Amino acid sequence: MKETNHITGSGVSLSGTPLPLPSLDGKTFYIKTFGCQMNVHDSERMAGLLSEEGARPVSEPGEADIILVNTCTIRDKADQKALSDLGRIRQVRKDGPESVLAVTGCMAQREGEEIFRLVPDVDLILGPSQIRNLIPLLDTVSRDHQRVDGTLWPPPDMTTPPALRPPGITAFVTIQEGCDKSCAYCVVPSTRGAERSRPARDIFQEAEELVSLGYREITLLGQNVNGYGHKGDSSGASFPELLRRLSEISGLHRIRFTTSHPNDMSDELIEVMASSAKVMPHLHLPVQSGSDRILEKMQRGYTLETYRQWVTKVRKNISGVSLTTDLIVGFCTETEEDFRQTMEAVEEFCFDGAFSFIYSPRPSTPAHAWADTPSREVAVERLERLQKLVEKQAEARNGKLVGQEVEILVEKWDEENSMAIGRTPQFQTVRAHVDAPSSPPFPGDLVQVRITQASRTGLRGRLSPNA
Ligand code: SF4
Repeated sequence: MKETNHITGSGVSLSGTPLPLPSLDGKTFYIKTFGCQMNVHDSERMAGLLSEEGARPVSEPGEADIILVNTCTIRDKADQKALSDLGRIRQVRKDGPESVLAVTGCMAQREGEEIFRLVPDVDLILGPSQIRNLIPLLDTVSRDHQRVDGTLWPPPDMTTPPALRPPGITAFVTIQEGCDKSCAYCVVPSTRGAERSRPARDIFQEAEELVSLGYREITLLGQNVNGYGHKGDSSGASFPELLRRLSEISGLHRIRFTTSHPNDMSDELIEVMASSAKVMPHLHLPVQSGSDRILEKMQRGYTLETYRQWVTKVRKNISGVSLTTDLIVGFCTETEEDFRQTMEAVEEFCFDGAFSFIYSPRPSTPAHAWADTPSREVAVERLERLQKLVEKQAEARNGKLVGQEVEILVEKWDEENSMAIGRTPQFQTVRAHVDAPSSPPFPGDLVQVRITQASRTGLRGRLSPNA
């Protein structure tokens, strides 16, 4: 079994000069990603760093010299999925001293060295804020033939690693990392660290480069994306200012952002969303519960009334806006009355979509030690009731679009079925039949589609003849 290397800052000479790193020319890598968009984009950035060193991606772990499993730990189920996948991958990984198996992401950060005990074949662990250290960390593993706990390395600066994105029309751009809020159930502040914003000029430059490569829509990512500029060096820009500046980029059709926090909402943001044709009318604003008692216990920092006031302003000012949310059921001490208030809130706000989950206690969070969590059976039954309501609302909302004309940004062309696939400004997926496939729309085009069919999960339509 390999020893664990606790050296911090390896890859730097005693005089502080970075040591030259060996090239990864000819090496192959495979990345498996679990979790949210932040993780998807972190994987793109790790792929970018590896490609810059000469490594190339492969689609099977058995063909890779370097395997990265980028984990999520938001719920216990996420941990179990990653561990089960690691069990499969360790069976097929290449033999030999050149082969490296690394666990990255939030579970790696939270579990630390425990990962080496749970999966003894793992050579390297690193957390989300250690991505920029990936290459020197890999170098240390190969050079010293030791396991390395990269979560102990000093955090690198905020320079953005290059991302290797799949070719396409839409791209993620991280603008803010970490979180300074203290929701009682959430592991993110301890896995992704304190909140910090990227300089606006770097974001602007990255967006311009993406447009020059053919991307037409960007999604700005941050744990509390609308709090951009509150912490760190944003070059003095606020979030609404950043959106305004990005809207001026020629060739960029659409800008989205996620996830927003109710306490970071502002009138100025609503004004930008209402007035800019490029900022899409879709707001993901997690409410989590409809009970003020539970919101307080969750330490969310707002009441249902504050949330209601923002919803009212958003709906009043942003034409055709779609509002989606996150909901947790079965939090510590949640009673049937608390849950009834959540159902009432969902009825009232009539969300356009919701991600809903059963509360999953996470180690190292305040709520982990709290008692009085509803039984699994009770939580499952509440979740089912909630999801039925959300689905009914989504079906009714989509049904209203039948017969209407909507604009979609074409993301793919399905030649076999003569279908253009894209999304509405409100983020609904549309599959649109094209009557004259000899001149199909190109990915990246904005086209008008008449909606002919609707279901809970998506829309079908026909490209409008005058499109
Ligand atoms: S705002 Fe709350 S739920 Fe969201 S990442 Fe921060 S602590 Fe977690």
